[in-house]
This record gives sequence, structure tokens and C-alpha cells, in this order.
Amino acid sequence: MMFRYRNEVLAKERLEKLKDLNLNLRLMHVCGTHQDTLVKFGLNSMLKEAGIEVRPGPGCPVCVTTAKEIEEAIILARKGKVVATFGDMFRVPGERLSLADVRAEGFDVRMVYSITDCISIAEKTNKEVVFFSIGFETTAPTTASVILTRPKNFSILSAHRLIPPAMEALIKMGEMKIDGFINPGHVSTIIGERAYEFISKRYKIPQVIAGFEPLDVLIGVYMLAMQIIRGETRVENEYKRVVKPEGNEKAQHTLGEVFEPTECSWRGFPAISDSGLKLRGEFEEYDARKRYEDELSTVDIDYKEPEGCRCGKILRGLVYPDECPLFGKVCTPQHPVGACMVSREGSCNITFRYGER
Ligand code: SF4
Repeated sequence: MMFRYRNEVLAKERLEKLKDLNLNLRLMHVCGTHQDTLVKFGLNSMLKEAGIEVRPGPGCPVCVTTAKEIEEAIILARKGKVVATFGDMFRVPGERLSLADVRAEGFDVRMVYSITDCISIAEKTNKEVVFFSIGFETTAPTTASVILTRPKNFSILSAHRLIPPAMEALIKMGEMKIDGFINPGHVSTIIGERAYEFISKRYKIPQVIAGFEPLDVLIGVYMLAMQIIRGETRVENEYKRVVKPEGNEKAQHTLGEVFEPTECSWRGFPAISDSGLKLRGEFEEYDARKRYEDELSTVDIDYKEPEGCRCGKILRGLVYPDECPLFGKVCTPQHPVGACMVSREGSCNITFRYGER
């Protein structure tokens, strides 16, 4: 199956067709895996030759997590809790330090591969365990299903976020014209096609849900181009082999049972209404922000990006990584200055790894 979607002849045919359309378009995607495919296979450069620019938006969950949230996790570790999170999140700097730095100070910060690893840690200790839970609609249902089991000595510091409100925020901010969105395959597996419809209806913008193989992305771009030529603005689904129109209703139900939408800040963005997830009242005891309200009351930072770092603008699609003066010089994956260089889904990390192909 995979090789069918990497067929060079078919890819070239599709690119030629796009070139023949003679368009001048700016599209945006909101998914780190799409960015990986675009850069790794050189599609970005080939599409540019066809007059189509595909800019990355806020599609990396690690990158959009704010310094304030990282500071909250650091405070909880320093107050004696066991703080666990995913590998990439571990290395992103907060206001000054990362969770990795705090572990080096001797505090109990663990790297886990899943929330169930974190539950195993809680079962083996009497200490309070806090899971710094990041991720979009794809990972939040798993967090919700664990909360439903009502684990002991366990809570979450929720940094879960929802993609459609961020897409709407990008349009409303109006910093640049976006001709169409390539919507994320993983997130769409959960939320389906319908969750994006309000964007096309309200803002007259076409959208295509696409998979992650090179041909998926090229076909997705072609479908968007055809919508634009025909003057259509709707949600289409290139990734039908995985994404159903209604999404995964069971996962949506679990998510809705445990979480409710809340206003949330994203790195590089002002607060976006209903773009974050907080635990519902009946699960309040698992909400680290409620459980450790006093300890966390000291976190009130007005964080600015490190001097020269352009992560905020990169996450809003306004600049490319190599337009940052620190890229590849001061800032590398070994010595990251900003979040976009830490995560393997971050645009700076991806550009550094593959270069412009
Ligand atoms: S290269 Fe580094 S400093 Fe520059 S925007 Fe990317 S992460 Fe920030």
C-alpha cells in the first residue's frame, strides 16, 4: 500500500497537471507529519515550481505548548511530584529551563512513551504523579479513557489542544491570505470531516483532509486546486481509506465525557476560545491545576521568545525556519533555542534534518 502512494511516475504526472493549471496559490497545513513529508520528499520545492506554496501552521503539539505550561510542570516537579511527559516535551525550554534541566537538578522528571507508562509509575510509588499531557484530538481520547478509570495518586496537567479553532484563529487574525487548508489525517481520524465544515461555510475557504504519503499530499493539493478553480469551498477527504465522515464517534464520546473546551493560549498566538481541553467538574480531582492550585498560583509569566527566535511567526506560517537568524548557527537539534527545533514535528527541526530538497 505504502509504495503505491510513493509512485514517482504518478507523482510527476500530478505535478505536471498542477503546473499546467498555472496557478499562484498559498495553502497551509496544520500537521508536523505533513511538513515532514513535504520537506523529506522535496515536494515543497516542486510545488513552488508549480506556483503553489504550502506553509506549515501550528501543527506540532510540542511546539505550540507555551512556556507558561512548561513552567507549571517545572514547579510541580520542584514541589516533589513525579512529573512525566513525552520525550520531545522534555527538552523544550520554559522561561529559562527545560524539564530535562530540572531533572539534572535532581528532581523526579520522567520521560514516558504513553500515559499508561505514567500509570505504571503511579502504581509503584506513593508519591503524587503528574502527567504533562500534550497533544491534539488524536491523543486526548487516550488521556480521557485513563481518567475514566479513576487512577490513584495521579493527575494531569492538560496541554491538550483542538485544531479547528486554531485554523479559524489563523483566518481571523488575517496576517496573510490562505487559499486553502490541507487538514491533518491523524486528527481527522478522530474528528472526521464534519468538524471542519464551519470553516468552509463561514470563511469560504476550501479544505482537503490528506494522508501522509507523498501522493496523498499531492492529490490533496490537486483537489484543493480544483476546488479553487471551480469556485467551491467545502471539505473534501483524500484520506478516505482511514478517515470516516463522522470520525471516530466512540473516541469523541470518551473525549466529551471527560473534557470540555476552554480558552487556551498557543505559542505565538493570543488566547484562542475553545481551543484547549480542561477536565470536567466531576473529574476535577485529576486536574493538577485544581489539585495544586496554591503551588501553581506563583506561575504568571509574560514569556517572550528568546532573542532572535521566530517560533511564534513560524507557527503562524509567516516565516520559514531558514529566515530565522539563529537557524543552524546558534540553534540546532543538539542545542535548540526554540520549541520548533526540539520536536521532530517542528518545522525548524524538519528543515534542519532534511535541508531544502
Ligand atoms: S531556528 Fe531555533 S531560534 Fe530560530 S525559530 Fe527555529 S527554533 Fe526558534
